[in-house]
Amino acid sequence: MPPQDIHGEHGIVVQAPDNIRAISPYQPGKPISELAREMALAERDIVKLASNENPLGMSPAARDAASAALVEVARYPDGNGFALKAALSSRLGVGAERIVLGNGSNDVLELAARALLAPGRTAVYSQYGFAVYALATRAAGATGIEVGARDYGHDLDAMGGAIRPDTRVLFIANPNNPTGTFIDGDVIESFVARVPQDVLVVLDEAYTEYLEPARRYDSIAWTARYPNLLVTRTFSKAYGLAGLRVGYGIGHPAVIDLLNRVRQPFNVGSVSLAAAEAALGDEEFLARSAELNDRGMRQLTEAFARLGLEWIPSAGNFVALRVGDAAAVNLGLLRRGVIVRPIGGYGMPEWLRVSVGLPEENARFIEALSPALQGRTAQ
Ligand SMILES: *Cc1c(COP(=O)(O)O)cnc(C)c1O
Repeated sequence: MPPQDIHGEHGIVVQAPDNIRAISPYQPGKPISELAREMALAERDIVKLASNENPLGMSPAARDAASAALVEVARYPDGNGFALKAALSSRLGVGAERIVLGNGSNDVLELAARALLAPGRTAVYSQYGFAVYALATRAAGATGIEVGARDYGHDLDAMGGAIRPDTRVLFIANPNNPTGTFIDGDVIESFVARVPQDVLVVLDEAYTEYLEPARRYDSIAWTARYPNLLVTRTFSKAYGLAGLRVGYGIGHPAVIDLLNRVRQPFNVGSVSLAAAEAALGDEEFLARSAELNDRGMRQLTEAFARLGLEWIPSAGNFVALRVGDAAAVNLGLLRRGVIVRPIGGYGMPEWLRVSVGLPEENARFIEALSPALQGRTAQ
């Protein structure tokens, strides 16, 4: 066999279409096990506040349901997710034909891109908007139109103005990740009403369960009025099931039908379906998670104020803070066993994003922050 040159002129790598080769992969938070290896630290001494996970873990009801479902894993899951859709249906007051399930809501975002985008088409999203919008757009061969942010959040007027005749998807994250910015529901709804009907508005509400009651709004009801609106939500954040990968989208039945055409037949596993259904029923856990988050957010932002640091007020379970040379400060934190998320990849090289943890985890982060800011070497 001739020597292989996979990157050469006839190699397999260059055969990938330009849109695929142009993608820079999503940068996930560093796993605890990896930092433990790199810094020779014990895993139990490491605090991970990097992926907006629920520091309480999962609801006990979800854990029990997941364990019970293990017995049946030799069988394929229900590809239609009947039981979870029924639970969502009664919880949200929408018919099951208006619900699509995803392997995380990330999957639903990709289904929307794959169903509606193609070469020659465009998608509109915001500067500092969630990274997956650009990735999904490029993977579909379409062109992204990134609209400049206003105060680190979505500038809806500018986004509306950026829509072109070839635009088919417009992504909004509310609250947004990584900036935590939030737009009032009535402002979003009047924007959706103005978007041309041939553009699907994907309203990504991954953090909606963390909103304070006064800020909640009923976007699910809007989907009955605007057939070009798809609302996405997830079990990964407040429900504490990030590792099981379950999310969902709510939209017009005809749009849901389109998404189902590009969906893998068994995209959500049986253990995940069972856990999500049980998690949905544990309102006490959800309330506890939101309350812990409020307290933790205060703990963190009060510390930032003391340290004279700038931060972006956040409606999510994380907050972005300005630290100057974020790569250096991040390294200082890693050496002290604290994992947060640098967001230079979002064009915010002076910022770190920290997830709200348990009180003692937040305290560990705050304690490590001062010496990391001063560039002091860890002991
Ligand atoms: C975390 C997150 C998601 C999706 O996460 P999944 O685990 O795939 O459900 C989607 N959108 C935003 C803005 C997020 O931060």
